[in-house]
Amino acid sequence: MGKQPVLFVGHGSPMNIVWDNGYTRALRHMGETLPRPKAILVVSAHWLTDSTYVTSGERPQTIYDFYGFPPELYQQSYPCSGSPELAGFIQRITGGAVQCDDERGIDHAAWAVLTHMYPKADIPVLELSLDYGKPPNYHYQLGQQLAPLRDDGILIIGSGNIVHNLRQIDFANTDRPPYDWAVKFDAWVRENLEQRKHQQLCDYDTVGKTAELSVPTNEHYLPMLYAAALRGQNDELSFFYEGFQNGSISMRCFQAG
Ligand code: ZN
Repeated sequence: MGKQPVLFVGHGSPMNIVWDNGYTRALRHMGETLPRPKAILVVSAHWLTDSTYVTSGERPQTIYDFYGFPPELYQQSYPCSGSPELAGFIQRITGGAVQCDDERGIDHAAWAVLTHMYPKADIPVLELSLDYGKPPNYHYQLGQQLAPLRDDGILIIGSGNIVHNLRQIDFANTDRPPYDWAVKFDAWVRENLEQRKHQQLCDYDTVGKTAELSVPTNEHYLPMLYAAALRGQNDELSFFYEGFQNGSISMRCFQAG
């Protein structure tokens, strides 16, 4: 099995699970055109832990980690298998920095995306947590350590959002034009990705007001650093979706390799 690319996916509202829009069609297209991976590892904005864990159960449960949404969302499920062997391999290649959790299922950072990319749920899925006590550089370096997985046919997906501000969000209007600060910060990230200025991306909090508003808490931003870290020297970068939802959520997605 050949080398896999690395992806970052902006996941946005759980409503995207049941919506059919330009974003969900872009995900569907990716699932249909990318080389089929042996397994998928999703770095989740929705699993925050003290130290880093990877799901290692045989049959990870679908976790409904969103509240007050229409019943149709809770009727969906994503019955994929896991891979205890791959979880063990991840633990080894990271020198034990990543530990196994065989109880944890997969949250919507993974399955809201995969339900469009791989609707048959016939590829094993693992999730990686974020050690929320650690600085951005730690996450970037841990991302680099995962590089052997790509060679081994594993698709790694960072799942979060480059701009994610729930205080300024317009829940009622998905198509609300984005705030100026959101557009600015999203463009700043795009440029730094294009120019491989990854240290700048780790130091996003030096940017000032646009960063403060776009990344009020960084759990949705950090999965992007894993994807940036996994871009190899010869990997082309492409943005397979860009846009905003609800004014303050960037749906930008990219592929490297
Ligand atoms: Zn989220």
